[in-house]
Amino acid sequence: MRPPSVDALARSRADSHLPHPLLVEAARSAIADGAHEQFDAYVERVERRLLSRVINATGVLLHTNMGRAPLATNRNAGYTNLELDLDTGARGSRQERAGLLLAKACGAEAAIVVNNCASAVMLGLAAVAKGSGVPVSRGELVEIGGGFRVPEVLEQSGCRLVEVGTTNRTRLADFERAIAENQDIAAVLKVHPSNYRIEGFQQSVGVKALSTLGVPLIVDLGSGLLDEACPWLEGGRPGWLLDEPAVRQTLDQGADLVMFSGDKLLGGPQSGIIAGRAEMVERCARHPLMRTFRPGDLVIGALQDVALAYLRRDGDAIPFWAMATIPQPVLSRRAEAIVAASGIGMVVDSEATPGGGSLPTATIASAAIEIAGDHSTELRDHTTPIIARVHEGRTLLDLRTIDPADDAIITSALAASRLEGLA
Ligand SMILES: *Cc1c(COP(=O)(O)O)cnc(C)c1O
Repeated sequence: MRPPSVDALARSRADSHLPHPLLVEAARSAIADGAHEQFDAYVERVERRLLSRVINATGVLLHTNMGRAPLATNRNAGYTNLELDLDTGARGSRQERAGLLLAKACGAEAAIVVNNCASAVMLGLAAVAKGSGVPVSRGELVEIGGGFRVPEVLEQSGCRLVEVGTTNRTRLADFERAIAENQDIAAVLKVHPSNYRIEGFQQSVGVKALSTLGVPLIVDLGSGLLDEACPWLEGGRPGWLLDEPAVRQTLDQGADLVMFSGDKLLGGPQSGIIAGRAEMVERCARHPLMRTFRPGDLVIGALQDVALAYLRRDGDAIPFWAMATIPQPVLSRRAEAIVAASGIGMVVDSEATPGGGSLPTATIASAAIEIAGDHSTELRDHTTPIIARVHEGRTLLDLRTIDPADDAIITSALAASRLEGLA
């Protein structure tokens, strides 16, 4: 029997949500593979390559593969007053929305928003120290992941790296000498090593000491904890934050500019924030790179919601903080209910992690559903893909990162599965 025509095969799935050209492409592949009878699988593969919602059951709260901080946003993409001053009818600044509010929330004179922390660091360095020397401790010349390497970012921003101290120990005197020996120092850069930790015989120079050097101090804080005291959490600062530094205190201790991600511990959309002294933030805002790095109104709107929640001290309105602070017994009870309803798995204690390249050693007490064997592929194949963790031949679904509204999906996915030898 002759295979159907490409067009007929494509039209046979006109009921799918895929536009015709994508169905045609899938039909061509299926026919070329001699597999037109499995066309549904080809269509599904195309659908699964589109950006879509997944359930994060890994227990890693800020998972880069799943868009870091979870965010509930329901913004209309119609016209906005993005750069319109509604009082005068004249042109306004997009930075007077989320930027202004975040500055208030962290006690900075001013703040602006760019696409991510990498662009924030590059812009800050270019605006303040382009063509000049910038001393950095050798212990902080790190790679953060995804190719963010401090020496390369410095070079791209047009600055000259002046290495200071050693990998494990750097003292204030090392910076003083670097400034005395180089005539072109325009700023000092301090980088939070984030996913990397030196233990044992080590020493580094704090923000307070660095701010006495008489040159502008730029701090790449990365993870973006807004305030050490976490006033937006009813229970105050959680223990798992360990000694994670915060934006407000870094500024209080004398940093001139602080850069941080919007989608790590801040719990917002992918973005980067530059906060600090008004005059230096203004230099960043006026720099030509700003045009390249500025986000649009969807991001600014989502970040504005997050900033308003911080100002209201309402951590529960920020999904990341709501998930991170649910008491462990509540998670155990939810896991028990899912196991009872689906007849699959057993409840075990678990350790969730903040993730996002911050706090590499921190864990948050959690509860998980444990199933013998590796079922990660079947779970990923579910209509709403469920991303699980596999450890020593067992599949773990960690409740810490699962939205309670999705418990029913987990229950039916487990009940419908014929996970071998389990029920
Ligand atoms: C994560 C991180 C970055 C990069 O942040 P993005 O928002 O992903 O660009 C830069 N610096 C530090 C210290 C970080 O932790």
